[in-house]
Amino acid sequence: MLCSLIFNCKASKKQDNTISEILKTETHSKPKLVVGIVVDQMRYDFLTRFYSKYSSNGFKRLINDGFNLKNNHYNYIPTYTGPGHASIFTGATPNMHAIISNYWYDKYLDQSVYCAGDKTVTSIGTSDKAGKMSPRRMKTTTFGDENRLFTQFKGKTIGISIKDRGAILPAGHTANGAYWFHGKNEGVFITSDFYMTNLPNWVKVFNNSNSINRYLKEWDTFLPIETYTESGADINDFESGFNGKIQANFPYDLKSLSAQNDNYDILKATPYGNSIVVDFSIEAIKNEALGKDDITDVLTVSFSSTDYVGHNFGVNSKEVEDTYIRLDRDLARLLDALDKHVGEGAYTLFLTSDHGAVEVPAYLKSKNIPAGYLSQKGLRDRLENHLQKQFGYAELIKKINNNQIFLNTEIIRKYKLSINSIEESLVNKLVELPHIYKAYSSKTMQTTQFATGIPYLLQNGYNQKFSGNVIYDMDPAHINYSKTGSTHGSGLNYDTHVPLIFYGFGIARGESLQKTEITSIAPTISALLGISFPNGSSSNVLDFVLEK
Ligand code: ZN
Ligand code: ZN
Repeated sequence: MLCSLIFNCKASKKQDNTISEILKTETHSKPKLVVGIVVDQMRYDFLTRFYSKYSSNGFKRLINDGFNLKNNHYNYIPTYTGPGHASIFTGATPNMHAIISNYWYDKYLDQSVYCAGDKTVTSIGTSDKAGKMSPRRMKTTTFGDENRLFTQFKGKTIGISIKDRGAILPAGHTANGAYWFHGKNEGVFITSDFYMTNLPNWVKVFNNSNSINRYLKEWDTFLPIETYTESGADINDFESGFNGKIQANFPYDLKSLSAQNDNYDILKATPYGNSIVVDFSIEAIKNEALGKDDITDVLTVSFSSTDYVGHNFGVNSKEVEDTYIRLDRDLARLLDALDKHVGEGAYTLFLTSDHGAVEVPAYLKSKNIPAGYLSQKGLRDRLENHLQKQFGYAELIKKINNNQIFLNTEIIRKYKLSINSIEESLVNKLVELPHIYKAYSSKTMQTTQFATGIPYLLQNGYNQKFSGNVIYDMDPAHINYSKTGSTHGSGLNYDTHVPLIFYGFGIARGESLQKTEITSIAPTISALLGISFPNGSSSNVLDFVLEK
């Protein structure tokens, strides 16, 4: 961009002035703070469905004064929390950043690993192992990392969430701090010695204040329940609910239910988990002096409770509607605090989600829409039997995990079997089975470049080093999950279509129905800041959202 500007420089005096203005903007004028907000499991239609119930100071403020990308999608499978958060902030897909799921089978270690798990670090703020976490499995940088490098580590990065992975992956490798919530009997924000050896005083004060106890109260609807016409009946057959309460209907007495639901953990699956995240984020803004000087800081805030509520009650529930109505008010509270402590117009913010969610398949089925459940139980036996018949050896499958089949390479090598033939045989068998839509071998993933559709999404999620030998995809609205509640993971619109709104410093007002991909967020923020793009990102800058 600079080259073309200098070239154009010779053209006219008028352009000359424009160029110097742009250069001035590029070199001197930056937001004081970038706030990246992720609402876990927020489908795009939660913006439109509950719109009439939102206040003017929350979601509507962002929509009306910011840039609303109405057709923004995930561009890989699987659409899970770990990969989602990594992709938003690195601008890369799992084939590059290597967060291929939340949990996966690591064929080198021969064990299941967790995306943010790190046995080499120590919990800080608790003696529980919940703090043994770091971003080390993520192989690429976030825009926060690039901002740290660019500013000689003077610009701060802080990550906050109820979920550890929702705080750790967005904040990146060079964060000053990442804090996540440890419920159980403690109800505190914790971290690991990857970041620090002691919690800052303000975190200790927050934890010791017991302020979260005020949320162990009755959860009833924010507005009269009869006005919640955008969701299904409160009592239905598609919800899980809490232990100790027979029916999943309002109101919920959280204090009395907490004993049977892991004490403070119950708050995670209520809108109050989001309130706690806002309370803590406001303390971080104040005490870490975020956005107080001219060196850009980065704050990442991930609201996890929306996901827990969706998994528990399903996307069509009154509980989900109430959670979004309340999140809207919490969001307004966060925006107020940013106005007060950083200054209206001095910060840039974006809001998106890490994936959507499917309507409860049992509910869809009850309305004659093709949907269902596919258990992995039995699948392995069928495939093992098939391979034994074809190749004459048992136990050729090591693991089936995240719709990926890992072969037993020890046996295959020992008996000099052809790995390509076994992969192909599995692909052919899989697509014969009911509710398996597609299957691909690792060889196909490595040798064919897909440009559209499900294979494109699978390829972006396929990591040559860590993924399985065969990957498969199920029919629409078919999940491997309980018959109550919603989940996610597919490459279909209900899981890929998520909100994306940019707002504040340097952002134009507007909206677009042009299809965009989640991995464009990080390069767009990098372009706004004039810093290096995250090292693994190859996505486009959404230049039309940036003020000219
Ligand atoms: Zn999630
Ligand atoms: Zn989830």
